[in-house]
Amino acid sequence: MIRILGVRVDEYDMQQSLDLIGAFVAQSGDELKQVVTINPEGVWLAQGDGELKRIIDDAALVTPDGNGVLWAARQLGTPIKERVAGIELLENICRRGAEEGWRIYLLGAKPGVADVAAQKLQEKYPGLQIVGCDNGYFRDREEQAVSCVREAKADVLFAALGMPYQEHWLYDHRRELGCKVAVGVGGSFDVLAGLVRRAPGLWQRLKLEWLWRLLSDPKRWRRYLVIPRYMRAVKKQARQN
Ligand code: UDP
Repeated sequence: MIRILGVRVDEYDMQQSLDLIGAFVAQSGDELKQVVTINPEGVWLAQGDGELKRIIDDAALVTPDGNGVLWAARQLGTPIKERVAGIELLENICRRGAEEGWRIYLLGAKPGVADVAAQKLQEKYPGLQIVGCDNGYFRDREEQAVSCVREAKADVLFAALGMPYQEHWLYDHRRELGCKVAVGVGGSFDVLAGLVRRAPGLWQRLKLEWLWRLLSDPKRWRRYLVIPRYMRAVKKQARQN
Protein backbone atom coordinates (compact mmCIF):
# COMPACT_ATOMS: atom_id res chain seq x y z
CA MET A 1 0.00 0.00 0.00
CA ILE A 2 1.23 3.51 -0.74
CA ARG A 3 -0.06 6.93 0.27
CA ILE A 4 -0.59 9.81 -2.11
CA LEU A 5 -1.15 13.04 -0.18
CA GLY A 6 -2.03 10.81 2.76
CA VAL A 7 -4.63 8.85 0.81
CA ARG A 8 -4.31 5.08 0.59
CA VAL A 9 -3.83 3.37 -2.78
CA ASP A 10 -3.18 -0.39 -3.08
CA GLU A 11 -0.53 -1.64 -5.48
CA TYR A 12 -2.38 -4.70 -6.78
CA ASP A 13 -2.61 -5.13 -10.54
CA MET A 14 -5.83 -6.12 -12.32
CA GLN A 15 -5.31 -9.86 -11.89
CA GLN A 16 -4.51 -9.55 -8.19
CA SER A 17 -7.49 -7.25 -7.66
CA LEU A 18 -9.77 -9.76 -9.36
CA ASP A 19 -8.39 -12.64 -7.32
CA LEU A 20 -8.97 -10.67 -4.15
CA ILE A 21 -12.54 -9.90 -5.16
CA GLY A 22 -13.03 -13.61 -5.96
CA ALA A 23 -11.87 -14.40 -2.44
CA PHE A 24 -14.30 -11.84 -0.96
CA VAL A 25 -17.18 -13.42 -2.91
CA ALA A 26 -16.20 -16.88 -1.70
CA GLN A 27 -16.19 -15.76 1.95
CA SER A 28 -19.16 -16.75 4.03
CA GLY A 29 -19.21 -13.76 6.42
CA ASP A 30 -21.89 -11.15 5.94
CA GLU A 31 -19.58 -8.17 6.15
CA LEU A 32 -19.64 -6.07 2.98
CA LYS A 33 -16.24 -5.52 1.37
CA GLN A 34 -16.04 -2.05 -0.13
CA VAL A 35 -13.86 -1.42 -3.18
CA VAL A 36 -12.79 2.14 -4.06
CA THR A 37 -11.42 2.98 -7.51
CA ILE A 38 -9.49 6.17 -6.88
CA ASN A 39 -8.36 8.86 -9.32
CA PRO A 40 -6.56 12.17 -8.69
CA GLU A 41 -9.89 13.92 -8.21
CA GLY A 42 -10.75 11.45 -5.45
CA VAL A 43 -7.36 11.93 -3.79
CA TRP A 44 -7.98 15.67 -3.87
CA LEU A 45 -11.54 15.36 -2.55
CA ALA A 46 -10.24 13.33 0.38
CA GLN A 47 -7.97 16.24 1.37
CA GLY A 48 -11.01 18.20 2.46
CA ASP A 49 -13.23 15.28 3.46
CA GLY A 50 -11.88 13.42 6.48
CA GLU A 51 -14.78 10.97 6.41
CA LEU A 52 -13.96 10.00 2.81
CA LYS A 53 -10.33 9.50 3.80
CA ARG A 54 -11.42 7.19 6.65
CA ILE A 55 -13.73 5.24 4.31
CA ILE A 56 -10.80 4.74 1.93
CA ASP A 57 -8.62 3.60 4.84
CA ASP A 58 -11.28 1.11 5.93
CA ALA A 59 -11.99 -0.20 2.40
CA ALA A 60 -11.17 -3.80 1.49
CA LEU A 61 -9.41 -2.67 -1.71
CA VAL A 62 -8.40 0.71 -3.21
CA THR A 63 -7.43 0.45 -6.87
CA PRO A 64 -5.37 3.00 -8.85
CA ASP A 65 -7.86 4.40 -11.38
CA GLY A 66 -6.32 7.13 -13.51
CA ASN A 67 -2.92 7.84 -14.96
CA GLY A 68 -2.54 10.73 -12.52
CA VAL A 69 -2.39 8.18 -9.69
CA LEU A 70 0.35 6.20 -11.45
CA TRP A 71 2.22 9.44 -12.16
CA ALA A 72 2.07 10.39 -8.47
CA ALA A 73 3.27 6.93 -7.41
CA ARG A 74 6.32 7.35 -9.68
CA GLN A 75 7.04 10.83 -8.35
CA LEU A 76 6.99 9.43 -4.83
CA GLY A 77 9.45 6.67 -5.71
CA THR A 78 6.89 3.90 -5.20
CA PRO A 79 5.78 3.05 -8.75
CA ILE A 80 2.61 1.05 -9.32
CA LYS A 81 2.67 -1.63 -12.00
CA GLU A 82 -0.71 -1.18 -13.59
CA ARG A 83 -3.75 1.02 -13.72
CA VAL A 84 -6.92 -0.66 -12.46
CA ALA A 85 -9.68 1.56 -13.85
CA GLY A 86 -13.22 1.19 -12.51
CA ILE A 87 -14.79 0.35 -15.85
CA GLU A 88 -12.17 -2.28 -16.67
CA LEU A 89 -12.51 -3.80 -13.22
CA LEU A 90 -16.29 -3.92 -13.73
CA GLU A 91 -15.90 -5.70 -17.08
CA ASN A 92 -13.42 -8.19 -15.66
CA ILE A 93 -15.64 -8.92 -12.67
CA CYS A 94 -18.53 -9.54 -15.09
CA ARG A 95 -16.38 -11.85 -17.24
CA ARG A 96 -15.38 -13.87 -14.18
CA GLY A 97 -18.86 -13.58 -12.69
CA ALA A 98 -20.40 -15.16 -15.81
CA GLU A 99 -18.04 -18.13 -15.43
CA GLU A 100 -18.52 -18.51 -11.70
CA GLY A 101 -22.20 -17.69 -11.37
CA TRP A 102 -21.82 -14.47 -9.36
CA ARG A 103 -24.95 -12.46 -8.76
CA ILE A 104 -24.51 -8.86 -9.95
CA TYR A 105 -26.55 -5.74 -9.10
CA LEU A 106 -26.27 -2.43 -10.96
CA LEU A 107 -27.21 0.70 -9.01
CA GLY A 108 -26.76 4.19 -10.42
CA ALA A 109 -26.99 6.65 -13.33
CA LYS A 110 -30.16 8.18 -14.76
CA PRO A 111 -33.36 6.11 -15.10
CA GLY A 112 -33.04 3.37 -17.72
CA VAL A 113 -29.25 3.59 -18.09
CA ALA A 114 -28.42 0.68 -15.76
CA ASP A 115 -30.91 -1.51 -17.67
CA VAL A 116 -29.20 -0.80 -20.99
CA ALA A 117 -25.79 -1.36 -19.38
CA ALA A 118 -27.07 -4.69 -18.00
CA GLN A 119 -28.29 -5.76 -21.43
CA LYS A 120 -24.93 -4.89 -23.02
CA LEU A 121 -23.05 -6.78 -20.32
CA GLN A 122 -25.23 -9.85 -20.73
CA GLU A 123 -24.65 -9.83 -24.50
CA LYS A 124 -20.92 -9.56 -23.93
CA TYR A 125 -20.69 -12.10 -21.10
CA PRO A 126 -23.32 -14.77 -21.81
CA GLY A 127 -24.76 -16.38 -18.71
CA LEU A 128 -24.04 -13.33 -16.53
CA GLN A 129 -26.62 -13.17 -13.76
CA ILE A 130 -27.77 -9.60 -13.25
CA VAL A 131 -30.15 -9.87 -10.34
CA GLY A 132 -31.25 -6.23 -10.25
CA CYS A 133 -30.89 -2.75 -11.69
CA ASP A 134 -31.92 0.61 -10.30
CA ASN A 135 -31.18 4.23 -11.12
CA GLY A 136 -29.13 6.41 -8.83
CA TYR A 137 -31.69 9.14 -8.15
CA PHE A 138 -33.41 7.62 -5.13
CA ARG A 139 -33.01 10.25 -2.47
CA ASP A 140 -36.79 10.34 -1.88
CA ARG A 141 -37.07 6.51 -1.77
CA GLU A 142 -33.80 5.50 -0.19
CA GLU A 143 -35.27 2.76 2.01
CA GLN A 144 -36.83 1.09 -1.02
CA ALA A 145 -33.58 1.30 -3.03
CA VAL A 146 -31.70 -0.33 -0.14
CA SER A 147 -34.27 -3.09 0.37
CA CYS A 148 -34.29 -3.92 -3.37
CA VAL A 149 -30.54 -4.50 -3.18
CA ARG A 150 -30.90 -6.54 0.01
CA GLU A 151 -33.64 -8.75 -1.40
CA ALA A 152 -31.64 -9.46 -4.56
CA LYS A 153 -28.89 -11.12 -2.46
CA ALA A 154 -26.17 -9.95 -4.82
CA ASP A 155 -22.59 -11.08 -4.63
CA VAL A 156 -21.29 -7.91 -6.25
CA LEU A 157 -23.00 -4.51 -6.21
CA PHE A 158 -21.74 -1.87 -8.64
CA ALA A 159 -22.61 1.64 -7.48
CA ALA A 160 -22.33 4.26 -10.23
CA LEU A 161 -23.38 7.33 -8.26
CA GLY A 162 -20.21 9.41 -8.74
CA MET A 163 -17.46 10.05 -6.26
CA PRO A 164 -17.64 10.79 -3.32
CA TYR A 165 -21.39 10.19 -3.00
CA GLN A 166 -21.11 6.48 -3.87
CA GLU A 167 -18.31 5.93 -1.31
CA HIS A 168 -20.25 7.63 1.50
CA TRP A 169 -23.50 5.92 0.53
CA LEU A 170 -22.02 2.41 0.38
CA TYR A 171 -20.24 2.94 3.68
CA ASP A 172 -23.33 4.30 5.43
CA HIS A 173 -25.47 1.37 4.22
CA ARG A 174 -22.86 -1.38 4.40
CA ARG A 175 -24.78 -3.34 7.04
CA GLU A 176 -28.11 -3.20 5.19
CA LEU A 177 -27.17 -4.06 1.61
CA GLY A 178 -26.74 -7.79 2.12
CA CYS A 179 -24.13 -8.18 -0.63
CA LYS A 180 -20.55 -9.38 -0.36
CA VAL A 181 -18.67 -6.82 -2.42
CA ALA A 182 -19.58 -3.25 -3.43
CA VAL A 183 -17.55 -1.35 -6.00
CA GLY A 184 -17.88 2.40 -6.69
CA VAL A 185 -17.62 2.85 -10.47
CA GLY A 186 -18.50 6.53 -11.11
CA GLY A 187 -19.78 7.19 -14.62
CA SER A 188 -19.20 3.63 -15.93
CA PHE A 189 -22.85 2.80 -16.67
CA ASP A 190 -23.09 5.85 -18.95
CA VAL A 191 -20.12 4.52 -20.92
CA LEU A 192 -21.49 0.94 -21.05
CA ALA A 193 -24.90 2.16 -22.20
CA GLY A 194 -23.26 4.23 -24.95
CA LEU A 195 -24.32 7.63 -23.57
CA VAL A 196 -20.71 8.65 -23.13
CA ARG A 197 -17.97 7.39 -25.41
CA ARG A 198 -14.76 6.31 -23.77
CA ALA A 199 -11.55 7.73 -25.23
CA PRO A 200 -10.30 5.69 -28.22
CA GLY A 201 -7.33 3.38 -27.58
CA LEU A 202 -4.78 5.79 -29.03
CA TRP A 203 -5.90 8.60 -26.72
CA GLN A 204 -5.71 6.17 -23.80
CA ARG A 205 -2.21 5.06 -24.76
CA LEU A 206 -1.10 8.68 -25.09
CA LYS A 207 -2.53 9.17 -21.57
CA LEU A 208 -4.94 11.79 -22.91
CA GLU A 209 -8.14 10.18 -21.63
CA TRP A 210 -8.69 13.21 -19.39
CA LEU A 211 -8.52 15.55 -22.42
CA TRP A 212 -11.00 13.38 -24.31
CA ARG A 213 -13.43 13.56 -21.40
CA LEU A 214 -13.00 17.32 -21.16
CA LEU A 215 -13.59 17.84 -24.90
CA SER A 216 -16.63 15.53 -24.89
CA ASP A 217 -18.20 17.30 -21.94
CA PRO A 218 -16.76 20.82 -21.54
CA LYS A 219 -19.12 21.42 -18.58
CA ARG A 220 -16.68 19.30 -16.58
CA TRP A 221 -13.91 21.92 -16.94
CA ARG A 222 -14.15 23.01 -13.31
CA ARG A 223 -13.13 19.53 -12.21
CA TYR A 224 -9.81 19.90 -14.00
CA LEU A 225 -8.84 22.92 -11.96
CA VAL A 226 -7.75 20.59 -9.18
CA ILE A 227 -5.21 18.79 -11.37
CA PRO A 228 -2.40 21.42 -11.30
CA ARG A 229 -2.94 21.81 -7.55
CA TYR A 230 -2.80 18.04 -7.13
CA MET A 231 0.43 17.89 -9.16
CA ARG A 232 2.06 20.66 -7.13
CA ALA A 233 1.08 18.97 -3.87
CA VAL A 234 2.44 15.60 -5.03
CA LYS A 235 5.74 17.21 -6.05
CA LYS A 236 5.93 18.85 -2.63
CA GLN A 237 5.31 15.48 -0.94
CA ALA A 238 8.02 13.92 -3.13
CA ARG A 239 10.52 16.59 -1.98
CA GLN A 240 9.65 15.96 1.66
CA ASN A 241 9.97 12.17 1.44
N1 UDP B 1 -25.39 9.90 -10.39
C1 UDP B 1 -26.36 9.17 -9.75
N2 UDP B 1 -27.02 9.74 -8.70
C2 UDP B 1 -26.75 10.99 -8.26
C3 UDP B 1 -25.71 11.71 -8.91
C4 UDP B 1 -25.04 11.13 -9.98
O1 UDP B 1 -26.65 8.02 -10.12
O2 UDP B 1 -27.38 11.43 -7.30
C5 UDP B 1 -24.70 9.27 -11.53
C6 UDP B 1 -24.69 10.10 -12.80
O3 UDP B 1 -25.89 9.92 -13.52
C7 UDP B 1 -23.49 9.50 -13.53
C8 UDP B 1 -22.56 9.09 -12.38
O4 UDP B 1 -23.36 9.11 -11.21
O5 UDP B 1 -23.87 8.33 -14.23
C9 UDP B 1 -21.41 10.07 -12.16
O6 UDP B 1 -20.64 10.10 -13.28
P1 UDP B 1 -19.28 10.95 -13.29
O7 UDP B 1 -18.58 10.65 -14.57
O8 UDP B 1 -19.56 12.36 -12.94
O9 UDP B 1 -18.53 10.28 -12.03
P2 UDP B 1 -17.01 10.06 -11.71
O10 UDP B 1 -16.57 8.92 -12.61
O11 UDP B 1 -16.32 11.36 -12.01
O12 UDP B 1 -17.04 9.69 -10.26
